[in-house]
Amino acid sequence: MGNVNIKINGMDISAPEGSTILEAARLANIEIPTLCFLKEINEIGACRMCVVEVKGARSLVTACVYPINEGMEVYTNTPKLIEARKKNLQLLLSNHEKKCLSCVRSGNCELQRLCREYGVEDEDYYQGEKQKFELDTSAPHMIRDNNKCILCRRCVATCEKVQGIGVIGANERGFNTFIGSAFNMDLAETSCVSCGQCIAVCPTGALYEKDDTEKVFEAIADPEKYVVVQAAPAVRAALGEEFGYPIGTDVQGKLAASLRRLGFDKVFDTNFSADLTIMEEANEFIERVKNGGKLPLITSCSPGWVKYCEHYFPDMTENLSSCKSPQQMFGAIAKSYYAEKIGVDKEKMFVVSVMPCTAKKFEVGRPEMDANGVADVDVALTTRELAKMIERAGIKFRDLPDEEFDMPLGLGSGAAVIFGATGGVMEAALRTAVEKLTGEELKSLDFTDVRGTEGIKEASYSVAGLNVKVAVASGLKNAKELLTKVKNGEADYQFIEIMGCPGGCVNGGGQPRQPGYVRNTVDIRAKRASVLYNLDKTNTIRKSHENPAIIELYETYLKEPGSHRAHELLHTTYTKRVVNKETL
Ligand code: SF4
Ligand code: SF4
Ligand code: SF4
Repeated sequence: MGNVNIKINGMDISAPEGSTILEAARLANIEIPTLCFLKEINEIGACRMCVVEVKGARSLVTACVYPINEGMEVYTNTPKLIEARKKNLQLLLSNHEKKCLSCVRSGNCELQRLCREYGVEDEDYYQGEKQKFELDTSAPHMIRDNNKCILCRRCVATCEKVQGIGVIGANERGFNTFIGSAFNMDLAETSCVSCGQCIAVCPTGALYEKDDTEKVFEAIADPEKYVVVQAAPAVRAALGEEFGYPIGTDVQGKLAASLRRLGFDKVFDTNFSADLTIMEEANEFIERVKNGGKLPLITSCSPGWVKYCEHYFPDMTENLSSCKSPQQMFGAIAKSYYAEKIGVDKEKMFVVSVMPCTAKKFEVGRPEMDANGVADVDVALTTRELAKMIERAGIKFRDLPDEEFDMPLGLGSGAAVIFGATGGVMEAALRTAVEKLTGEELKSLDFTDVRGTEGIKEASYSVAGLNVKVAVASGLKNAKELLTKVKNGEADYQFIEIMGCPGGCVNGGGQPRQPGYVRNTVDIRAKRASVLYNLDKTNTIRKSHENPAIIELYETYLKEPGSHRAHELLHTTYTKRVVNKETL
């Protein structure tokens, strides 16, 4: 395919044949505004913010879907276009609950930004009927506020095309159109898996996670409570974005420092319990291989994936590892081993987690997650909620010194930190399982075949006379493709890693939101993942079974992986759910 020569705003530009005007303009560093466009996901030309003038065309055209052709002359910023875009914004605002002062998106709302750029005020330019919607607060993880929805359909396309789920869509027609579930059911009644990918792509304040920050502020202020916090690996790779750092900045030291200044009694690291997960999961894998157990073994760290499996592949729940996720393992150990060690009553121990994930809010409420007779984890916050707490507490994040996590539950290996990227759990598990199976030290710890942001990856390794075939999938549409192959007998893997979000936790539904124009042009997943691989490379401990805090935990408390006590605290069961047919 060759290149096509066009002019944009009088400048000569050469772009690949088949490009749209929007793509050609981006090659020339000209940004055309968009609200609905998401590359390869939502290319529907609906919001009409990207209108441009093409010489010879009878009307304005939408740049996101209009292909270029040889000799085309395009104008992206004429007075006529500015007027047209202003009118679009005024129309959107006329049926919009304009509450920027308190809106969760104020400051990084794509609609607000365009209104500012085009000088559109928060008044009703067009008088007439207004829609009024009740909030959908039914789901454990999120709220839908259709009063702030601009019908861009990014959420619908993401749920359907990226996650392969499709529990939301457009209801009614014309002026009455609104986004929701079939028959306007509550989201909680559907087979939504709480992944939050719809929240991540929404340009406005119409979708957001349930805010649990008040519960945490209250717990910290309660002298009766001993409040410990854990932070997941992927949080350190993205939290900085909330404070103006470039995508892909490592803020591990400032993360620990900010949590300490918020007043937590102890500041710990989920990397510790990621190592614990590997100890249990590698042992489970070896046991299943040796004793003819159910294979392939499939990882269970991602609660969005686990819920998806329960709904959509219930006959494969036996393949799921019985290991709890690192978040839950941390809570179970904090309220048993650690509480006993420091002489604090488990009822007084309050465990907070900071996660890149909205499905963790669902996971903490699962009834089986109470190893000690009390909830393993009391509150799961997203990375965004933590940023909000830091701001509200007046902590100057950028000026903080780098600090360390507290010991012993703050010690994690390099294997643990890569849990946050797709392929990371597999790589961490292989580092431990291979050494356990062969009894020999690995020459290279880098299993590069399972790294990278592709949706599905495969590899095979010769280990102690066994040919171990593994696969890694991230994003639930990819998971479905992979599991369908397994179900149909077209693949014979022994071990599979699945993460609910595309790219893994670094791109979780609770991570800082990047606007459409960034999502469309920057590989956010790879940049954030590179932070984790660098942290792995520079860690002096790179295997979970060599973490001294984990070794001590087994020597003094759990005895060995898979022990009776380990099972009581660290393993779980699953529920075969149904797919609500009305949502299909
Ligand atoms: S969604 Fe955006 S424009 Fe609407 S109230 Fe919130 S910040 Fe303001
Ligand atoms: S949380 Fe995930 S499954 Fe639920 S509606 Fe949003 S994208 Fe779909
Ligand atoms: S909820 Fe958000 S992403 Fe979905 S259609 Fe409305 S504005 Fe767009």
